[in-house]
Amino acid sequence: METVIANARLRRSSGVWHIGIRDGRIRAVSRDPIPGRQVIHADGGLLTPGLVETHLHLEKALTADRISWNEQRPTGHEYRRFQEQITAPLKRGYTHDDIVQRALQVARMASAAGTTTMRAQCEVDEDLQLKAIEALLDVRERVQPFLTLQIIAFPPGDIMGAPDVVGLLRRAMELGADGIGGLPELYPENGEPYLDLLFRTAAEYGGVVDLHVDQPRDERLFSFPLMVTKARQYGLEGKVTGAHSNSLAFQPRDQVLPVLEQMRETGVHLACLPYGFVEERIKVPKAMGIAVSLINDNVRDPWQRGGSADLVQIAMIYARTSAVRSDGDLEAAFDMISEDGARSLGLSDYGIREGAWADLVLFRAESVQHVICHHVRPALVFKAGTIVAQEGRCLL
Ligand SMILES: [Zn+2]
Repeated sequence: METVIANARLRRSSGVWHIGIRDGRIRAVSRDPIPGRQVIHADGGLLTPGLVETHLHLEKALTADRISWNEQRPTGHEYRRFQEQITAPLKRGYTHDDIVQRALQVARMASAAGTTTMRAQCEVDEDLQLKAIEALLDVRERVQPFLTLQIIAFPPGDIMGAPDVVGLLRRAMELGADGIGGLPELYPENGEPYLDLLFRTAAEYGGVVDLHVDQPRDERLFSFPLMVTKARQYGLEGKVTGAHSNSLAFQPRDQVLPVLEQMRETGVHLACLPYGFVEERIKVPKAMGIAVSLINDNVRDPWQRGGSADLVQIAMIYARTSAVRSDGDLEAAFDMISEDGARSLGLSDYGIREGAWADLVLFRAESVQHVICHHVRPALVFKAGTIVAQEGRCLL
């Protein structure tokens, strides 16, 4: 075997295991020692699959120091308008190289924290045109040795009266974007033509749909029933994700549960920040079998002043703020930064089993409960069998 990771604990099993890796993939998972050219001694540390970030605004990350933080920020519907006003001049100052350098830095931060796959939200509008998409397509090539990057072309504004932006979305898909984003709350009265446009465009190019869904605390917003219908209509079952969705907390329970059931059946996934309405957005959907991922969303930008693209930190915030203490609840929290994310992103060959990609994280810890509660940093991160990060530092 090219590489062997010896004496590693695995989730949901007792004792230690030996993992054999060749040509980037796991070839053996054995109780017995495996001979190898390079043997890495895990010494009873916990080996998990690589962490999966399903939602991060990569092109605007690390811009928080370019704006003033003196003003009070409004809430609700006003918050988005205020934020867009702050972000607009920033976006006009972006250059290709500026976006590339910031995105590379965040990709390395994520890798150091154990992330091996990330889906980036990337804005496309009349001001930016395809500048950010083109920059992140460059970044995708450059980070490929340590991070698989998916790119969602996200139009943050009205596109129904903006055929140029629709043309830009189509061009983004032709250039290699993985899917289409959107913001159904822009059309609270009649969202169907908007969703038709997004789903049709994604389906035409074989892409996914990944939307910011119903963020204001407003019971009139509830886009998931229509998203389920459109996923089925356009053959996008399993390829649709909705982020945030505070509105799940504002619908009568007897109306939400059947919709969640349809989401599970259709493969409409959820991506959630770890705070706010966790019962309705995270705990209940996860218990029903929906793929729910915990996300960083924004990292040091006008929307979120802090952050370090660290998913274990996000899981810890979730645990500390949401009464997540039992072994089972902490297992579920770890699922939501790993396996559920992999399901949401349609990753094939994920996990610790023969034939899977050797995207792995070794923690000096006995369990995922220990990793989350003590915010343990990865000792080693492997991408396709190669060590890409060590002791909290990306090596590439
Ligand atoms: Zn977002």
